[in-house]
Amino acid sequence: MSASDASNAAYTKGLHEVGDGCFAWLEPDGSWGWSNAGLVAGDGASILVDTLFDVPLTRNMLEGMSSITATKPITTVFNTHSNGDHWFGNQLLKDREIIASSAATAEMPSAGPERLEALRLLPGPTGDFAREIFAPFDWSDFEATLPTRTFDGRLDLDIGGIQVQLIELGPAHTGGDTIAYVPSSKTLFTGDLLFIGGTPIIWAGPLSNWVKACDVMLDLDVEQVVPGHGPITDKDGIRQVRDYLTFVDVEARKRHDAGMSAEEAVTDIALGEFGKWAEHGRIAQNVLAVYYELEPTMPHVDVLTVFGEIARLEGFTDDGTAAADHDH
Ligand SMILES: [Zn+2]
Repeated sequence: MSASDASNAAYTKGLHEVGDGCFAWLEPDGSWGWSNAGLVAGDGASILVDTLFDVPLTRNMLEGMSSITATKPITTVFNTHSNGDHWFGNQLLKDREIIASSAATAEMPSAGPERLEALRLLPGPTGDFAREIFAPFDWSDFEATLPTRTFDGRLDLDIGGIQVQLIELGPAHTGGDTIAYVPSSKTLFTGDLLFIGGTPIIWAGPLSNWVKACDVMLDLDVEQVVPGHGPITDKDGIRQVRDYLTFVDVEARKRHDAGMSAEEAVTDIALGEFGKWAEHGRIAQNVLAVYYELEPTMPHVDVLTVFGEIARLEGFTDDGTAAADHDH
């Protein structure tokens, strides 16, 4: 499962040129909240693909892009989806056009930092887990700044002479996942339809639609792929995510057909090589997503419970310590 890294770009924090006029802003290590962003800089204008998880991180990124944006200012912001690590910094660009799919925009008002703050206040292992993963982030200045322009399906933009295609492929990770494709430099910004080195999480589903999204991305003429989390990749990275999703689908269905509960299936599935990916505990939500697809009337498990299950799988115990061994 080794990633061939066509770009050869180092996985280091900051700006990386990936193609003609295309840049990735990387935030290692790609785990919870450490998301990537992108910049496509044309003649006298740029589009920013996603802001970051909080205002200070986004401010730092905008400063890091200033050598480019001084002559090619950001005129447009595009949010790939509704998770906070892709739009909580929007307020620093509130006077620009902000674009997202209608479905992503509809989810944003109820996807603010309040839920994450609540998680951090929980007692016990779930709270310990949330306090650990969300400790680096500061939402004290947050002001909800929603997209000003929405679309469905597809939107083609001209950014200073560079064509940027926004292609909606959700629901999958969330309800309105959208990619940004720059044909002239064979560059693709995928948002969280790709996690590289970490485990994808199926908040919305259906899983089958995420597999379809992978196939659409594989059919594009691309050489550089900037994932929502993790290092820059190429089509091999898309195939890895497709393989993981297919594995989860097959293994969860088998256990559903054998009469196991989702919880039993999660415990029973041996992740093998996929267990070496970071955030492997997300299997808890991913098995549920398959069960929801198979049993449309099944009541959905609330996010707090799912977080607790992920924390347990990743070794957070009642005494508030994380197990050192994450390789199972
Ligand atoms: Zn993300």
